[in-house]
Amino acid sequence: MRIVKFGGSSLADPDCFYRVGAIIENTFQQSAVAVVLSAPAQVTNHLVALTQATASVQQGAEHLAHVQIIFTRLLEGLAEKRAGFDVAMLTQQLEERLEQLGRLHKGIVLLGQCPNNIYAQMVSQGEALSVAIMQALLQSGEMSAVVLEPKQYLLAEGCYCEAMVDIEASKLKMAQSPLDLSAISLLPGFTAANAQGETVVLGRNGSDYSAAVLAACVDAKCCEIWTDVDGVYNCDPRVVPDAQLLKRLSYAEAMELSYFGAAVLHPKTISPIAQYHIPCLIKNTFNPQAEGTLVGPESCDEQAIKGISSLANLTMVNVSGPGMKGMVGMASRVFSTLSRGGISIVLITQSSSEYSISFCISSDDLNAANRLLNQEFELELANHLLETIDYQSDLAIVSVVGDGMRTAKGVAARMFHSLAEANINIVAIAQGSSERSISAVVSQDKAKEAIRACHQNLFNSQQFLDVFVLGRGGVGGELLQQIARQQSVLTQQGTVIRVIGIASRDKMLLDADGVDLNNWQDQLTQSQQSFSLSALSNLIQQRHRINPVIVDCTASEAISRQYVDFLEAGFHVVTANKKANTDSQAYYRQLRLSANKNRRKFLYDTNVGAGLPVIENLQNLLFAGDDLNQFSGILSGSLSYICGMLDEGMSLSQATLIARDKGFTEPDPRDDLSGMDVARKLLILARECGLELELDQIKVQPLLPPDFDDSGTVEEFIARLPEADSYFSQLQSKAAAEGKVLRYIGQINDGQCEVKVTAVDADDPMNKIKDGENALAFYTRYYQPIPLVLRGYGAGGAVTAAGVFADILRCLPWKREV
Ligand code: ADP
Ligand code: ASP
Ligand code: MG
Repeated sequence: MRIVKFGGSSLADPDCFYRVGAIIENTFQQSAVAVVLSAPAQVTNHLVALTQATASVQQGAEHLAHVQIIFTRLLEGLAEKRAGFDVAMLTQQLEERLEQLGRLHKGIVLLGQCPNNIYAQMVSQGEALSVAIMQALLQSGEMSAVVLEPKQYLLAEGCYCEAMVDIEASKLKMAQSPLDLSAISLLPGFTAANAQGETVVLGRNGSDYSAAVLAACVDAKCCEIWTDVDGVYNCDPRVVPDAQLLKRLSYAEAMELSYFGAAVLHPKTISPIAQYHIPCLIKNTFNPQAEGTLVGPESCDEQAIKGISSLANLTMVNVSGPGMKGMVGMASRVFSTLSRGGISIVLITQSSSEYSISFCISSDDLNAANRLLNQEFELELANHLLETIDYQSDLAIVSVVGDGMRTAKGVAARMFHSLAEANINIVAIAQGSSERSISAVVSQDKAKEAIRACHQNLFNSQQFLDVFVLGRGGVGGELLQQIARQQSVLTQQGTVIRVIGIASRDKMLLDADGVDLNNWQDQLTQSQQSFSLSALSNLIQQRHRINPVIVDCTASEAISRQYVDFLEAGFHVVTANKKANTDSQAYYRQLRLSANKNRRKFLYDTNVGAGLPVIENLQNLLFAGDDLNQFSGILSGSLSYICGMLDEGMSLSQATLIARDKGFTEPDPRDDLSGMDVARKLLILARECGLELELDQIKVQPLLPPDFDDSGTVEEFIARLPEADSYFSQLQSKAAAEGKVLRYIGQINDGQCEVKVTAVDADDPMNKIKDGENALAFYTRYYQPIPLVLRGYGAGGAVTAAGVFADILRCLPWKREV
């Protein structure tokens, strides 16, 4: 015989019900079958709410109305599908049960509370109606179907709300009235009866458990749990979209996963099927062809870690105090007190000190636990042998589970590393005594982030980067194009880049699912809002994103001043903007401290030499103990171009005009000729090498004659520029006579930084640098007498954007394993 159970999600509407009917009929053609049904989705929630609506009859009426609507729609829908479906009989049954519920509800309003026996009677009504409807549906299709009365078959012990079935006693009952194998048996899930014959329920989501005990009682060949997903995944697929389906799980693994919150199976389900060695198959009602997950004695050995689950709504209780040291039996008193109150302890943390015991309970039990513990330890508390009992609520447990973890190394390290990278504080940790699970207690609002981070790292699965781009100009626009081009290639390699927003000077576009990169311009123009960090942060928090990056492609000081806020709000910062790193030394330090503290990256490789790999190389050298003796470099593409033209005998004014026409200079060429841009880059390099100094300590000689009047509009300045030509042609001839050329160079020497026109000879690494090329020569302890020279285009939208792109990818917290 096969036991097949269908959950509420599989019975939510007429189509679902009809589909389930077909699956049952199909199964019955292959083997004898007993079916366990839940109430249709949401029905039990409304019934539970009804039992809690003790203030007035009115308060409950709303919930009753919902129940009525759900069933009425179901009956009407099924009547349309099946001609012989006995809708009149079922409507009458529905009304009788609703009336009965209404009467019971009046009673509890009078009492002001709902006694547990009444609770059990009320909340089990959904299942009773489910089986009645299914029976009528099957019968209308000429199938023979009988309803099994839980009272007749399942004997349970314990309280009315969370009863446990006595399988051996139930087996005897079953033997007294054996199932009719020629008919389809239908058992309402969630429900059983105690020795007095009163209705009890088996705990929320307990229909899985009903199926398991029925399977054990009839020694079924297989217990099938049909739900709304293809099987058990390594994480809740609602939280992790690329969660992986597990083909096989051991009983022990399934138990740990469900105990720690994997809703797909109720934790009580496994024990009976494991005890009676019954294979359990998890199947998808909406995709019956899918193979499903088989839970059995054996796991599959390929993976040490099977899954990650999480359990929310927990409170951590900490009982501590000087009186606990050496006091025998304290732990036992704490736990037996709670056990007397029927409070289950979800997790106990390991503690080597004898001063405290910490454990987690459901937050629903908090008040009861507090009352009981205060009663039990009244004397100790009064005499200050115990501190006031401490409670920390709104917590969740995140657990990593797998049989192979007993022998695998490094699982805990990777789990905790993942949590740290996602900036999640761990409140407590516990390792299952079977070594099959490791659990971390974290703040509930971070549980999804925790699961995602652990999944990305432990399963080497897709890693996500959520990128927000500030600035849509040359670099920003080019970056967006490069991302659009690379997105699918990177996705195939396991890195998903979502551009979740773009901001221009006065507009902001936000889309958590990813802006359409082929059509962002129009959307941005139509936007009604301007950049707001709080709107962006809210979006990241609501969607539980773990790797958000703000990319600054502006030249704005107002933006660069906000980087600390960005880092504090949990964003990595990637910037092409030089303003932050050339702000005060104090801000420079603050940025790095904040990045460290928040475990976020602050990356700015394009600040010097655009796409040339300058900063990271320099940092690597310094980490390896190298030391800068001297630096010289051509750090401006436009000045490299202009100086190169002087070599050819062109005048400064002509060279500047050509450079400007070709778009090599800023719209106002004074921004280049002033040397300030080079000075900023030199300052960034100097600070990188450990020098502490401010921008105004850099000696800057513009690429203009001393005392040259550079005032007025751009056009006035350009008209005046030929006055500088003779000064430079003299310098140029003098240099040429000595076999030298003029270059605009930034230098660091003995801690002094200087930017100026310099005549360099043929041996100098800067001699051949022209046509817009940049070059950086580092004379260091390791690189001498020949310096380390980096050269290549050091400006331009494409190379700069590519450098920014590389920095964005560096924000991924861990390397993928091949
Ligand atoms: P039913 O109504 O069939 O009892 P449930 O809602 O109780 O269904 O359980 C199925 C849901 O469990 C899935 O929709 C899924 O979102 C959730 N779930 C949580 N963890 C897991 C997991 N590890 N694998 C599969 N589903 C999971
Ligand atoms: N209907 C019950 C509940 O929602 C039992 C179940 O569906 O498993 O808790
Ligand atoms: Mg369920």
